[in-house]
Amino acid sequence: MKIGILAVQGAFLEQEAVLNQLQIPWKEIRCEKDLQDHFDGLILPGGESTVQGKLLKELHLFHPLLAMIQNDLPVLATCAGMILLSEKIDGQDSPYFKTIPMDVKRNAYGRQLGSFHTIQEYQTIGPVPMTFIRAPYVQNVDNRVSILATVGKHIVAVRYRNQTALSFHPELDKDLRVHQAFLDLCS
Ligand code: GLN
Repeated sequence: MKIGILAVQGAFLEQEAVLNQLQIPWKEIRCEKDLQDHFDGLILPGGESTVQGKLLKELHLFHPLLAMIQNDLPVLATCAGMILLSEKIDGQDSPYFKTIPMDVKRNAYGRQLGSFHTIQEYQTIGPVPMTFIRAPYVQNVDNRVSILATVGKHIVAVRYRNQTALSFHPELDKDLRVHQAFLDLCS
């Protein structure tokens, strides 16, 4: 098994460190050529969704990755990655992949004070530590989307078909079970 990690901007090194701990081979996706070899799952890391969205297009990665996601490649998306997958982004006219029928709000907890840590129930795993950094949350989901976790009234983790999208950063905590659940979907 090999996992592709989008490595154009943001927290991709942290994702690589988690896969190293789990002894799972990975490769960085930085340009079109990196899509030639097969990989079994894709990680879209945290970072800045506007920058990532722009680079995806400039580097000609957007359309091939969209086709792979639409063709059921398993995807784990954290934070900015969640924003890239969302069909609608509050206050923004042009969303990106639009492969999850939901509506997200960026920087939803405020820009400066929006970083926090909590432990909450995550569907089928149990209580999971969650680190939020200028995080989005999901405002609305289509009823085909499964809600995996909420914090207060807000949805912070969802699964839709092949895609798992998280507002938080599991790669920043020691608990590797969210990644393990994703890898189970890839194998
Ligand atoms: N605030 C960022 C955005 O809107 C996401 C933050 C993150 O990925 N930690 O893209």
